[in-house]
Amino acid sequence: MKVLVIGGGAREHALCRSLSLDPDVTALHCAPGNAGIAEVAELHGVNALDGAAVAELAAGLQADLVIVGPEAPLVAGVADAVRDRGIPVFGPSAQAAQLEGSKAFAKDVMAAAAVPTARSYVCTTREEIDTALDAFGAPYVVKDDGLAAGKGVVVTDDVEAARAHALACDRVVIEEFLDGPEVSLFAVTDGETVVPLQPAQDFKRAYDGDEGPNTGGMGAYSPLPWADPELVDEVMATVLQPTVDELRRRGTPFSGLLYAGLAITSRGVRVIEFNARFGDPETQVVLARLKTPLSGLLHAAATGTLATLPPLRWSDGAAVTVVIASHNYPDTPRTGDPIDGLADVADQDGPEAYVLHAGTQRDDSGAVLSAGGRVLSVTATGSDLTTARERAYRAVGRISLDGSQHRTDIAAKVAADAAEAQGA
Ligand code: AMP
Repeated sequence: MKVLVIGGGAREHALCRSLSLDPDVTALHCAPGNAGIAEVAELHGVNALDGAAVAELAAGLQADLVIVGPEAPLVAGVADAVRDRGIPVFGPSAQAAQLEGSKAFAKDVMAAAAVPTARSYVCTTREEIDTALDAFGAPYVVKDDGLAAGKGVVVTDDVEAARAHALACDRVVIEEFLDGPEVSLFAVTDGETVVPLQPAQDFKRAYDGDEGPNTGGMGAYSPLPWADPELVDEVMATVLQPTVDELRRRGTPFSGLLYAGLAITSRGVRVIEFNARFGDPETQVVLARLKTPLSGLLHAAATGTLATLPPLRWSDGAAVTVVIASHNYPDTPRTGDPIDGLADVADQDGPEAYVLHAGTQRDDSGAVLSAGGRVLSVTATGSDLTTARERAYRAVGRISLDGSQHRTDIAAKVAADAAEAQGA
């Protein structure tokens, strides 16, 4: 199978890494990619947001499968452009991607499908905003209706800050606060059959102890030893299948990756948000544990044949990812700093620990430089979370990037709790 991956973050590097290890993949291409992806795939300087150019590239490469990684190309209709050329594509249509692109659309679908979620109001005027803030009280949850890379949400006890954020948005969703831990559950779907992957948890806040601003994600782990073993079945029955069925009923079937961001509240599971693509950094840990070859799974979703696939196979072990971000991320990340130590990780920690690149590029001399906010996703596997975590942080310690930041507490509590439960 010849495969073309669209995107250039650590999620796409994780996809490309799995595909490069997949015996069914004979050629691997990526556009635009990054310095790490270049080591496993041939890169093409095509704009990921330009559907016509992506479709042209896919046709020229005679690709058997195109995988669209990020949300922006999906919302811009890149998957539609590829599908129109008769090429199998993993990723929803622009219309179905509105499940992520518009929080108001997602709420409407959830209401129609009776999917449990936070009660909410969509507001466009100051009066509506004040009424909604009053109705729910603190803590206030205020979400920009459009795409904001996970950064358009403000959760605060300060009503003035909540109102200011709401007024800065054209259209805003104000909703009930959900308590309880968060879980990310991905499902691969062809629009009818839904195949859940293993749950993961990510760390959205910038600093240790869940302090600081929301980010795209600073780390992740899988599995979740604390989660109810029935969780995946429950979410399949109450969230994933009803949502896929509702979109098909509307004539806008969703094929690709349906990502449910969930809160496990005292009153049961609630959807916080849907995304229309693999989540970053959870993909790094989920794919690290997937033993079934990835190309066959995604090709089956792209061609409507998921029902014929045997059950997925998973490693019993654990995976942990720690994100290294640039100086001043997420506000005004500095780029262009040299990254050292990558070869040391490959030499001394591989294959159990490895570095997935996000915002990186090579300069003319061949040196790898930072080129974005989140720069690297250091990922490690192990028989348990404690081992995976130690390996990940050992590898993080070998990397130097001037001014960089990372959290030191990714999976710390869950690993300690799991180790204690084992010892007990
Ligand atoms: P979202 O972009 O909708 O995923 O929101 C980003 C983050 O804001 C989530 O991962 C949560 O940590 C937080 N959040 C969003 N909605 C709620 C809610 N209703 N209650 C509590 N926290 C929320």
